Amino acid sequence: MQQSGQSTAQKQEKNHSHHLHPFSDNGALKEEGARIIESAQGVYLYDSDGNQILDGMAGLWCVNIGYGRQELVEAACHQMKELPYYNTFFKTTHNPAIQLAEKLAEITPEHMNHVFFTGSGSECNDTVLRMVRHYWATKDQPAKQVIISRENAYHGSTVAGASLGGMKPMHKQGGLPIPGIVHIQQPYWFGEGGDLSPEAFGLKAAQALDEKILELGEDKVAAFIAEPIQGAGGVIVPPSTYWPEIKRILNKYDILLVVDEVICGFGRTGEWFGSDYYGLKPDLMPMAKGMSSGYLPIGGVMVSDRVASVVQAGGDFNHGFTYSGHPTAAAVALENIKILQNENIIEKAKTETGPYLQKRWAELADHPLVGETRGVGMVAALEITNNKEARTRFDDEGTAGTICRDFCFKNGLVMRAVGDTMIISPPLIISHAEIDELVTKAQKCLDLTM
Ligand code: PLP
Repeated sequence: MQQSGQSTAQKQEKNHSHHLHPFSDNGALKEEGARIIESAQGVYLYDSDGNQILDGMAGLWCVNIGYGRQELVEAACHQMKELPYYNTFFKTTHNPAIQLAEKLAEITPEHMNHVFFTGSGSECNDTVLRMVRHYWATKDQPAKQVIISRENAYHGSTVAGASLGGMKPMHKQGGLPIPGIVHIQQPYWFGEGGDLSPEAFGLKAAQALDEKILELGEDKVAAFIAEPIQGAGGVIVPPSTYWPEIKRILNKYDILLVVDEVICGFGRTGEWFGSDYYGLKPDLMPMAKGMSSGYLPIGGVMVSDRVASVVQAGGDFNHGFTYSGHPTAAAVALENIKILQNENIIEKAKTETGPYLQKRWAELADHPLVGETRGVGMVAALEITNNKEARTRFDDEGTAGTICRDFCFKNGLVMRAVGDTMIISPPLIISHAEIDELVTKAQKCLDLTM
């Protein structure tokens, strides 16, 4: 209460004195001051100066059902009164974990019927690393250790997550990646496609997987991990040839497919999972974010029958988290999934909201600064360029994106910049009028950036 009587500047000063932020230049915050978000409703955030801001990123790609849903508050409150916390270690469970596991088995692809609960997407990918190696060791193939990932992928911020990810600035801090993880080319046509058509480039990027498997030896490779659409890397929608070729290559070899659904899961593409959208059959499927629409931290690795039967036969799996299957978070996730189902939110994202968003977003391609627009369902990107034909960048690459992002925030829109790629991933419940507002503001901020 005392805090709310303070000015924004006073709060920023206190914040800078005591709070180190993730993925931020903490030194610069002394001058700039952190943005203070105080409340939210629907698709809108409200900051400490009373400004209304359209959240074009659904927080961090997670608030799929939008802000302010009382049902989730009540689910948390009810569960906290009943059993606020208990663990799922040492052969123990509780009702919310049982019910959520059953619900996840119902909504995920048919061959996936078990979940290993975590507290976040990063913990999911730590679990993936441990579980795929445990799987091969249990099958008497302990040499199968290497996981192939992609440059510029994002799989989290823990040591394993950041190593599986392919973000060079993250690798630089902390001597990553850890051994046994290698990266191949990403299917990023706008940036790396050169003179090839998107289709030809998609094939080439997929064939990098075959080349890497042959270089390492099939008997050394445990798994391939990929996001259906690379999110934090810049909403990289792969060319249509990419996933079919990856599937063909993986079918040739005895290698597990891990599809990281932390962003694409729970409706982002207009299907329940990105795997549904691209017709993939994952062996493991990390999920988080949209599982609870971000209201409480929870994640889980969905495990195929093929892998689960080996894990079940493999004795102790010496891995887990205090908050694996946290009952209050699980109760909130269940309520969130109920809302997604009862209100047909994902179906609408496929047939109404997504097509409208993509139609309006594509109009931005006419802007002189925009070299490409792309997107699927409720996620989209545009590329800022100084030459539409040559697909080149301004000299100080990344500056235009930062300028545009800052104009957006000042004009009441959260749009994220990944270098000179501008990205959006709004709550799935955004209305057509709110999409119009988003596109109008994006257009205005591109104009201001010129
Ligand atoms: N995997 C993907 C595809 C992500 O986008 C993220 C986060 O953005 C993660 C994993 C890590 O999730 P968390 O931040 O919950 O640890």
